[in-house]
Amino acid sequence: MSVIRSSRPCIDPPKEGSELDEALRRAFWTSLHRQPLPALQALAVAARTIGTLYRQIAEAHEGPGGCNCGWEPDPDSDLIVLEANLAAALLKPPEADLAHMTMLGRA
Ligand SMILES: [Zn+2]
Repeated sequence: MSVIRSSRPCIDPPKEGSELDEALRRAFWTSLHRQPLPALQALAVAARTIGTLYRQIAEAHEGPGGCNCGWEPDPDSDLIVLEANLAAALLKPPEADLAHMTMLGRA
């Protein structure tokens, strides 16, 4: 399966609860319902996927044909930002989310 990437992946800043957020969570839970994994293993897979996405989006900013938004990948400082987002999500109060909706079934 080929990976489809935009050469301009980040023109608009993402909003919390965005389409991307929902799509990622839905894909995660759909996959786990089809092929369950131990919890920490599933989250480790998701973390590795984030790393892969980071590398791909960083590559999309390289060279003259890359995204010209001004972001320059810096894995050290970007990792701090990603860790802060992970911590914020862990501390966020529970909400009605897709995991619960998925368990209830689909229309
Ligand atoms: Zn960009």
